[in-house]
Order: sequence, then structure tokens, then C-alpha cells
Amino acid sequence: MITIKSDYEIQLMRKANQIVRDTLNLLEDKIKEGMTTAQLNKIAHDYIVKCDAIPSFLGYSGFPASICTSINEQVVHGIPSDKVVIKEGDIVSVDCGSIYKGYNGDAARTFMIGKVSEEKAKLVEVTKQSFFEGVKILKEGVRLGDLGHAIQSYAESHGYGVVRALVGHGIGKEMHEDPEVPNYGREGHGMRLRKNMTIAIEPMINMGTHEVYMLNDGWTVVTADGMPSAHYENTVWIKEDGVEILSL
Ligand code: MG
Ligand code: MG
Repeated sequence: MITIKSDYEIQLMRKANQIVRDTLNLLEDKIKEGMTTAQLNKIAHDYIVKCDAIPSFLGYSGFPASICTSINEQVVHGIPSDKVVIKEGDIVSVDCGSIYKGYNGDAARTFMIGKVSEEKAKLVEVTKQSFFEGVKILKEGVRLGDLGHAIQSYAESHGYGVVRALVGHGIGKEMHEDPEVPNYGREGHGMRLRKNMTIAIEPMINMGTHEVYMLNDGWTVVTADGMPSAHYENTVWIKEDGVEILSL
């Protein structure tokens, strides 16, 4: 179901997303080679709880942690572990969600650890920019196909693959609400966004093929060709004349 938010609901969405933003900023500050992804998870979990919010990922469809940590060829939904040690040169995508007074925040960043290759650094930068290429055209009345097309054409102009198997989403009382928000699309197609919708836009961009598969842990999505992938996500509020990015 697509939900249109009241002013009061937007305030709660903003707060939930600010908690997610602050959690990701804290992780960016703390992350370094030699840490385990389980340590990152603990930092995020403790911070979200301290903010009087609920780590929304923990227990979501049985997910066992409060953030997703996806390294290099892992696209999304990697499970934090005390056996996974972060290394110099890694790119680590962290996806984070919180619930504040019944409303959801959702955002993701890809962190570069120490000195990373130029190729990986460019992938991370283009992935982030592809989000902003989409946001640039957004306002009430814009079609989802136009949003997807803006993200896709920018990423593909750099020779990258845009993941199709996973998409962005509406967000509110539920983390995943309608509509689906693909990072690919055809201009002039798809539903029109309405004022006071809130959606999570989350390009997942692969250095090589767009194709992905799931590991047998039932969660971790990896690139089919083993090449690196990056993820960047924010929750945005659709307004008459543009958007407000709630998790920035
Ligand atoms: Mg997310
Ligand atoms: Mg999301």
C-alpha cells in the first residue's frame, strides 16, 4: 500500500532518519582495518537504542543483526560476523534502519578503508552521484520510470551494471511499503510520485555485470562475476517543488 504522510508523520520520519544518519556517521568515524563487522554492528545497535529507537533490521524476516555489512563483491544484506575482519583496500557497504515512535528511517553508505584502488573509489563515487542524479529531477508528479532512468543512465555511462534484482521502496510505518522504486527505468513510464510520499532510493551499482546471486546463508547478495559493488541510500520526502532528503 502507498501511504501519504501527514506533517506530523513527516516529523517522525525525519527523526528516525536522523538517527540512521547519525549512526552511519558514527560508523564512518570508527571503521578501520582490523575491526570485525560484528564490532560495527554493536556500535550501531548501541547507538540506535541510546536514541530511544529500535534497530529495525534486527529480526526483520529473521535477519540476525542491526545493520547489513557487505564487503567488495557483496552487494547488500551481508551479515555482520566476528569472523569477518575489515581490511585495507576494502569497500564496505553499511545499510542501517531505525524505528522511532513507529516510523522508519533507512539509509546506506559505502565506506572506503584506507587506500582503495582508483577503480573502487570511482565506483563508490559514481554510485553516490547516481542517487543525486535521480534526486535532481524529483518533485511531485515525476514518474518512477524517469527517476530510474536518471540513475541508470548515469551509472551505465560509466560502464557499470545497475542491479535489477533489488530495488528501493516506499517507507513509513513499514520499512518496505509500496511502490517499488527501481534504479532503472524508461522515461515517461511508471506511476507519478505524489506530494508527501516518502521513498527510499538506493542505487546498488556493480563494476561489472548487473547480475547477482544469493549466498547459501540465505541473505548475502553477491555479484555474479565477483567484481565489486557499491550501495548508497537515503529516505526522501516528495514535495511540490523538489524533495527533502531526510537521512542526510
Ligand atoms: Mg537500507
Ligand atoms: Mg531500503
